[in-house]
Amino acid sequence: MRWIFLGPPGAGKGTQAARLAERAGVPQISTGDMLRAAVRAGTPLGLEAKRYMDAGQLVPDDVTIAIVRERLAQDDCRRGFLLDGFPRTVPQAEGLAGVLAELGVGLDGVLYFDVPDEVVVERLSGRRICPECQATYHVRFDPPREAGRCDRCGAALVQRHDDKEETVRERLAVYRRQTEPLVDYYRRAGLLKRVAADRPIDEVEAEIRRLTGVA
Ligand code: ADP
Ligand code: ADP
Ligand code: ZN
Repeated sequence: MRWIFLGPPGAGKGTQAARLAERAGVPQISTGDMLRAAVRAGTPLGLEAKRYMDAGQLVPDDVTIAIVRERLAQDDCRRGFLLDGFPRTVPQAEGLAGVLAELGVGLDGVLYFDVPDEVVVERLSGRRICPECQATYHVRFDPPREAGRCDRCGAALVQRHDDKEETVRERLAVYRRQTEPLVDYYRRAGLLKRVAADRPIDEVEAEIRRLTGVA
């Protein structure tokens, strides 16, 4: 069970990775979550990453590759993992290939979340996250039971700084320029599977379970 979830910001990768990871019993590895944790903890890494994240730019490749290398070496990744939001550039994909070779494992595939830009903007503008447990909600499409409160831990939900409109536009441009080339990269490697992600959350989940073979 080793998959990459690839697609634009707001495509639903994190939402689906959380569901599949729980079902399959493998960790969801989100570089965005790990970087936000470093920012909150105020580590040197977090201080460096914050400048890029606030501007909607990618954090340098050597930084994210090092984070993923360390994470994938941990015991809980032995049975597999879901990479959510990594790799995002061709050098990151090459770095990942090196890490997997070191570990002596291969990828099962890359799920490409295909969704139009206008849908992504609508999803990002209504996204709310739990600052305590990282659960993700949407004010209309996936609301918590009590408005503004996390179902899992009761914390007050917040909007991410980078989900404000100006930053969203920049992130989409960065995606087109730096991340979208990975669609062809993994297609050529014979690993790409496309998900029509412009459908309700449960339907997308069912399709992903079919494609990954998770019962
Ligand atoms: P989204 O889920 O909206 O795509 P993420 O939580 O994955 O956003 O990422 C938020 C920000 O963290 C990115 O805009 C970028 O600054 C940084 N980031 C996350 N993953 C990576 C990565 N693999 N490479 C470079 N920067 C990253
Ligand atoms: P990504 O990790 O790709 O950036 P998220 O999983 O955080 O995307 O989803 C972005 C926003 O859209 C969140 O608010 C989430 O609740 C919502 N969302 C996710 N999947 C769907 C879907 N299939 N239909 C409608 N809204 C969705
Ligand atoms: Zn919570």
